[in-house]
Amino acid sequence: MPDEATLEGGCLCGSIRYLINREPRVVSHCHCSLCRRVSGAGFLTWLTAKKETVTVTGNPVWYPSSAWAERGFCAACGTHVLARSDHYRRYWDITAGSLDEPQRISPERHVFAGDKVTWIDITDTLPAHVGDATSPLCRQPA
Ligand SMILES: [Zn+2]
Ligand SMILES: [Zn+2]
Repeated sequence: MPDEATLEGGCLCGSIRYLINREPRVVSHCHCSLCRRVSGAGFLTWLTAKKETVTVTGNPVWYPSSAWAERGFCAACGTHVLARSDHYRRYWDITAGSLDEPQRISPERHVFAGDKVTWIDITDTLPAHVGDATSPLCRQPA
């Protein structure tokens, strides 16, 4: 039985698996254009966790999506699983949609709500930061 605080997930084909052995620091819906484009969806939900709490098996392919951050994908099935940024080297971001049990986490905020597409309505009561509250991964190129 996994620990109550342990979260597990992975890519669609199962080549990449991860385990997060402590509560993530924060869970954010990111509406930035990079996350939108890379996911092909309206927005992307991230778990941000201390690097040492994340164990990854398999070999993600890292794509430099900006000068300061890269995003990890499965080379076989294309699932976007991870991201890491020079702006916060002690943390990794994990896509919440790749969790085995996504119902176990609760999003806490929106970031880059100012870049949100017009056809997504924020109807929850979470804080909605216009830009990036604390997630430099999503800072837009000038
Ligand atoms: Zn895969
Ligand atoms: Zn983003």
